[in-house]
Amino acid sequence: MRKLALIGLGASGLFCLKELAGADVEVHVFDVGPTYDKRYACPIDQGKLEVCPPKACSYCAPGQSAGSWNDFKVILSASPVIGGRLYDLIGETELQKRLDKVRQTILTHAPVEIPVVKPDADDLEWIKKRATLAGMTYHYQELLHCGSDNAPAINTSILNEITSKGPNITFHWDSKVMSVSRRSDQFAVVYDHYRKPGEEKEELFDFCIMSVGRGGANWLTQQEFYKVLEIYPGQVDIGVRVETSCYFTEEVDKRFYEPKLYYRSRRSNDVVRNFCSNPKGFVTPENHREYVLVNGHSKMYEKSENNNFAVLVSKTFTRPFKNPQLYSQNIAKIVNMLAGGGPLIQRLGDLRAGRRTKSVANNLVKPTLEAECGDISLAYPHRILEGIIEYLDAFDKICPGVASESTLLYAPECKSYPDSIVVSKNMETNVPNLYITGDSSSWTRGVGQAATSGMLAGEGVRERLKEMSKVMA
Ligand SMILES: Cc1cc2nc3c(=O)[nH]c(=O)nc-3n(C[C@H](O)[C@H](O)[C@H](O)COP(=O)(O)OP(=O)(O)OC[C@H]3O[C@@H](n4cnc5c(N)ncnc54)[C@H](O)[C@@H]3O)c2cc1C
Repeated sequence: MRKLALIGLGASGLFCLKELAGADVEVHVFDVGPTYDKRYACPIDQGKLEVCPPKACSYCAPGQSAGSWNDFKVILSASPVIGGRLYDLIGETELQKRLDKVRQTILTHAPVEIPVVKPDADDLEWIKKRATLAGMTYHYQELLHCGSDNAPAINTSILNEITSKGPNITFHWDSKVMSVSRRSDQFAVVYDHYRKPGEEKEELFDFCIMSVGRGGANWLTQQEFYKVLEIYPGQVDIGVRVETSCYFTEEVDKRFYEPKLYYRSRRSNDVVRNFCSNPKGFVTPENHREYVLVNGHSKMYEKSENNNFAVLVSKTFTRPFKNPQLYSQNIAKIVNMLAGGGPLIQRLGDLRAGRRTKSVANNLVKPTLEAECGDISLAYPHRILEGIIEYLDAFDKICPGVASESTLLYAPECKSYPDSIVVSKNMETNVPNLYITGDSSSWTRGVGQAATSGMLAGEGVRERLKEMSKVMA
């Protein structure tokens, strides 16, 4: 029987594995994390810690499938701009077909009923009119908001079903893949225990599927085969996490949960967008060991009186600069340096007035994350801040109050995306039988499309196996 290595069992790995359960191939799954039932919820959310541990924990650490555990909001619409770029790769119909499968799988495994958030005709008319008058573009989406509290049960239940249908699958939990290299037309995978290394092993595989997420993207670039892949540089998004009163945004929250609104900044023509809204949610730190970002999440049961969402300015670079990730990481590190190691918080009124925030004690909006008060403009490029302020002013026309003095801005909120790897419609690279899926391929940016890309790779391998068996017959 042929052998396949599946490296990384986050959103894309899980849905790839679902396709491969019971297939005529021996599947070896490697993941640095512990089994799903041992992955824990954020200790800060549980009230066990007040600040992030010195090392990134499995909640937020890149490479630990954070989005499938944190908030677990799944975009279900095949959009050309939201959640990734698979629309460009496989087209709307094929993408929607797979997103529908993702939806069905999650709903089947959810321990409670999770409503699909879907705007009706009335809501669409409402937002389109207001967005146009505000100079913004609205992008339609349906989504599932599973919540951090339901995420472990859903993922574990999906995995249990796969295991029961897949006698062909062997799991290597707590195993870090150290390297992957081509050996003739096979792949040599070297792996070791993640927490207690010292027992390095090497195995040969006929297929290799890499689904190592954004956290594993840098590691991917160091692998032997990387230099022969066809690639082009990725994008970065730099912005802030906005926290405001949920009463200012309640009209859009109740109609859309998260309306995707895009804006072009007047002077620089940069794309500015909102991302990851958390009505009645909480702002959280996102600890990456060398720097700390901010993020947000919400829960199904525990609620705050605020809404938080990211406002991001997208940037791509041209020659000779080739390392957009480094650019955003350095901005994040400057913010952390000014804040004494963590995120900064600033009132929008103070940012506009060109002064630092000294205290948020009497602010109308009470912060849900304790962060150092300061001045974000000391670290962020003017062009980025200009785009963010213009965006909030435009959004204020839809939700009056959002751009008020008391609105809080947390920095750094940066998203960097790996190099974009040229792949076939089944996520196969130009190296035969080597597939790269999910965020590490740069084709996806969220759970829904990451899961879809995994599914595509699984389908591709099944097809290839069929072709191979026909040739043998
Ligand atoms: C804090 C946070 C919150 C988010 N919230 C959302 C959200 O609500 N909705 C949404 O759509 N998206 C969200 N995202 C984005 C989402 O997490 C990703 O888009 C999605 O998880 C990508 O799936 P993936 O399979 O590509 O990678 P991941 O889910 O990151 O999985 C990668 C897997 O690879 C493993 N791995 C990495 N390197 C190695 C190695 N060398 N050897 C073995 N195993 C390895 C890791 O342990 C991990 O399990 C969030 C991201 C973060 C960081």
